[in-house]
Amino acid sequence: TTSTPGDLDRRRVFHPFSIPGAHERDGGPAMIVSGSGSTLTAADGRTYLDAMAGLWCVNVGYGHPKVAEAIHRQAVKLPYYHSFSSMATDQPALLADKIIELTGDLGMSKVFFGSSGSDANDTQVKLVWHYNNLLGRPQKKKIIARHRGYHGVTVASASLTGLPAMHAQFDLPLPQVRHVTPPYSLWERRPGEDDAAFSARLAAELDALIVAEGPDTVAAFIAEPVQAAGGVLPPPEGYFPAIQAVLRKHDVLMIADEVVSGFGRLGGWFGSHVLGIEPDLMTIAKGVTSAYVPLSGVVVSEHVWKVLSGDGGVFQHGYTYSSHPLAAAAALANLEVVEEEGLVAQVSARGDHLRARLNEALGDHPLVGEVRGLGLVAAVEFVAERGEQPKRFDPSLAVAARITRACLERGMITRALPAADTISFSPPFTIAEQEIDQIVAIAREAVDSVADALAR
Ligand code: PLP
Repeated sequence: TTSTPGDLDRRRVFHPFSIPGAHERDGGPAMIVSGSGSTLTAADGRTYLDAMAGLWCVNVGYGHPKVAEAIHRQAVKLPYYHSFSSMATDQPALLADKIIELTGDLGMSKVFFGSSGSDANDTQVKLVWHYNNLLGRPQKKKIIARHRGYHGVTVASASLTGLPAMHAQFDLPLPQVRHVTPPYSLWERRPGEDDAAFSARLAAELDALIVAEGPDTVAAFIAEPVQAAGGVLPPPEGYFPAIQAVLRKHDVLMIADEVVSGFGRLGGWFGSHVLGIEPDLMTIAKGVTSAYVPLSGVVVSEHVWKVLSGDGGVFQHGYTYSSHPLAAAAALANLEVVEEEGLVAQVSARGDHLRARLNEALGDHPLVGEVRGLGLVAAVEFVAERGEQPKRFDPSLAVAARITRACLERGMITRALPAADTISFSPPFTIAEQEIDQIVAIAREAVDSVADALAR
């Protein structure tokens, strides 16, 4: 008998974020073989409605012919050439110009390309360190991130990530990294605290940390406009302006990690536009190509560039796949689709629809602590007790993971977020309203089935 891809997967593939060997015991993962729009098809013929656009990234949906054709054309013409020092290819040049155009009035100037959000955030760390060396203040190297922030898994980016599970096995974070409280309203907001007071308190915590560490030792603050993997946490009104006032006071750079929020996910081209962030540096990935080909970037502001382009010599950093022409061609076609099909405006409409339906179906459910979101990203958090002072479930009950499994059994893919009893929704921008209705109906059924099981 011949081996199926599933057999070979179990025998040979070491899956990310998996218990080594688990698939050999549990019969293995679902083998996805094709996709169209918001629907995936598995090897056994089953179909799944993908409410997560892969991992928050397939924004134009699966199988878009325009992106596929651009990839084919570029692969035939010039699949690869590098961009180290004196060499260049045309697609990354066109793309960098397009990206800067889309950042509008954010004061951006240059793009450094990589392949993943993680490698781009490692580039950020090195850039910021180099920047302060050039300014003659080599002691200004600490980077402050937020608990529950997700910035990747390489050594520096995993350090920025604020999830203890991502640190424990690896002696992380690096000694230069600190974390502060995120704007997690459900658990962090005090009774009676309005948006302004909550924002002011979080900004005061950041200020106190910078003062305690010594402002001359703190280089940068990094934040996702809406923390995604850490729980889908839209900040309260006024949060980023309050944070940025603190950063400016202490001459600390603002890095906006736009890996999920960039290119339309929040209903504007960048999360920085939607939330009034004035970044010095931005990280991009995912939605820049809708993940058809891996591509990431660090977007550098004019004033940071001025320092880097002084007489500091070579920036000793770069990847084989930096400025990859095939990835850049995919990105250009993808961004053309987002523009031509009016998908950023559609994000707002579909996002409103998704949140309204989730609220109707689950807002008053005894298991639900909160429905939240912004643009076309949303989450439902489950609690053991609702009300003014909600209570968490015992983590060993794995409530969100069970609900996610119940959704999968019913043909819909959502995601249980790490360290929170939360499931998330981040569908393709191209999703139809009826597909959103279907997603919400399945979520409701899944929540009811787990509620029944918990009551037994
Ligand atoms: N930054 C953010 C905000 C992310 O959500 C992610 C991935 O989910 C990353 C960085 C890391 O990106 P990658 O998985 O491409 O390394």
